[in-house]
Amino acid sequence: MVNELRPFDALIASDSASALRWYERRRDDLRAAPIHLHDWARLLCSLGRRSEAEPLFDQLASLDEYAMFVAGQRLIASLEAGASLEQALRQTPLGSHSGCLPAISAATTEFDISRRPLESRHIAICGVSFCGSTLLDMLLEGLPGVASIGESVWLTLSFVDGRSVPRNHAVAHGPGVQECNCCGPRCEFLTPNFRNALWLNPTDWYFRIAERLDTRILVSADKNLEKIVVFDPQLRFQALVVFKSPKHAWASVRSKMKNDLAPEASFEEMTKYMAVWKRVYSEMVGAFKPRDGKVFLDFDRFAEAPEANFRSLTAALDLEYDPTALVRPSPGHSLGGNGAAFRRVRDADYRVDVRPLGEPAIPDDHAAWIDSQVDITELHATMRRLSEEREALLI
Ligand SMILES: [Zn+2]
Repeated sequence: MVNELRPFDALIASDSASALRWYERRRDDLRAAPIHLHDWARLLCSLGRRSEAEPLFDQLASLDEYAMFVAGQRLIASLEAGASLEQALRQTPLGSHSGCLPAISAATTEFDISRRPLESRHIAICGVSFCGSTLLDMLLEGLPGVASIGESVWLTLSFVDGRSVPRNHAVAHGPGVQECNCCGPRCEFLTPNFRNALWLNPTDWYFRIAERLDTRILVSADKNLEKIVVFDPQLRFQALVVFKSPKHAWASVRSKMKNDLAPEASFEEMTKYMAVWKRVYSEMVGAFKPRDGKVFLDFDRFAEAPEANFRSLTAALDLEYDPTALVRPSPGHSLGGNGAAFRRVRDADYRVDVRPLGEPAIPDDHAAWIDSQVDITELHATMRRLSEEREALLI
């Protein structure tokens, strides 16, 4: 087991076989780690090997967080065995979700969860928080033929007491439920039935969303590779890796934090954050191998000359350029994102308001520490080079 890749490391490298081996070798140990069991089951289902996940469903069914997925997979197995939907709903054990039969029944009546969707193009915006992804997401959404879902993770999660929790599928709307950025709870696309159907069968996650939004080119802004590999373990997308310079990245995060920290505590937060920045972007530069390649976007440079950079970005992403996307950015039927970025666009009467980032507002000792970290400055230089070259690093 020496040098054996963890599932996450294997999956970002497009090596699902190694991930499956890792799980298989630990089959007995993982009983106490439901999140691993869930990710393993999701991987098997995504690879079209649902029957192998059956023993895992038994262990997951009683857990609130996973019961919806398990109920959906069991319903599909019944349907594939020839049962009608009514029979499947009657005979499938729904675990702790038996009380939610009305919601499950409504979702499965409207959506055929056993049908695989058509494959569409998917451009996944990747990066750390506050990297500029919300703005990019809005701009790309404005291009012909493109639709964005934003942070798709909110389709099945809610934000309650400062943390994300499984959405209550029996309640259509309410506190913590993230609603469509364009039309709010009245959205005719991201309906409770659609969200529940997607939860019941989350395989082909992004393709199901693309089909729902009636687009052949979907943009997402889930950003975080840990989430993305669960949604699409086969990485069937092109990655748009958005980054700011280390100092601007820290300045953006710092501006969202309470600034009453003592200097020592603030310095410590900075070093912790830079460790995350380094790990995340090292993965994206290095092992990460999405099927349709990677495009790097330097947000600092983008903000200096948005028009020229947006034009070259659309070429790198093989999208049809339309200058009005820069003039009239607007959220589509998308979820989540940076509220401040939405406000800036709204306050500017839906005109793009990208200004050069200027000097990062961080203390001198923070700037000096970042400058002294050779691995961080080299990683940044590598990404700048990749951005300038607009290279698609195909597998
Ligand atoms: Zn909407």
